[in-house]
Amino acid sequence: MNSTRRTFFKTGATGIISSLLGFDLEPAYAQAKELRISRTTETRSTCPYCSVSCGVIIHTLGDKAKNVTPHVVHVEGDPDHPINRGTLCPKGASLQQDINNDRRLTKPQVRRSGSDHWEDISWDRAIEEISRLVKKTRDETFVERDALDRLVNRCEGIAWNGGCTDTNEFNYLVVKSMRSLGVCYLENQARV
Ligand code: SF4
Repeated sequence: MNSTRRTFFKTGATGIISSLLGFDLEPAYAQAKELRISRTTETRSTCPYCSVSCGVIIHTLGDKAKNVTPHVVHVEGDPDHPINRGTLCPKGASLQQDINNDRRLTKPQVRRSGSDHWEDISWDRAIEEISRLVKKTRDETFVERDALDRLVNRCEGIAWNGGCTDTNEFNYLVVKSMRSLGVCYLENQARV
């Protein structure tokens, strides 16, 4: 078979391999997928990565068994979702690897001034330090009136940059809290 880049994408890797081998692999792939999700619990959710907010179905194994930690085994696009109709971009399609990842951070870390490494700290200590430094910085850099004596009430000493895995709900709360402090330098991927 004469395979080009165009036919590869049009037919799909499965179709090309099937043609080369001389038999149809599609039923085997479909059955393997069915076996993988046959005993899972389906949870409908929203991809957290960007403001498109595609619908996803998360397949979890072990939800119904006693003394078993539920484990996400598959994530796919929700065919009934009006935004994406079952499709996902590569980031959304790799969500399972985001959930099951031994490099995922599960506790706060801090890199002190002048240090070249991150160290673990407790949640209580992180909250205490962040609160204290935010208060100190805001007190020191708050601008009530600009050079033309216009009332501006803004904090110029703090900036916030949100990551792509922050949910829209989290970003909503960030905007509310940062605006209440007078922070103007504010960016996140939800564009709220
Ligand atoms: S699947 Fe891709 S396009 Fe859809 S919300 Fe996630 S990151 Fe955005």
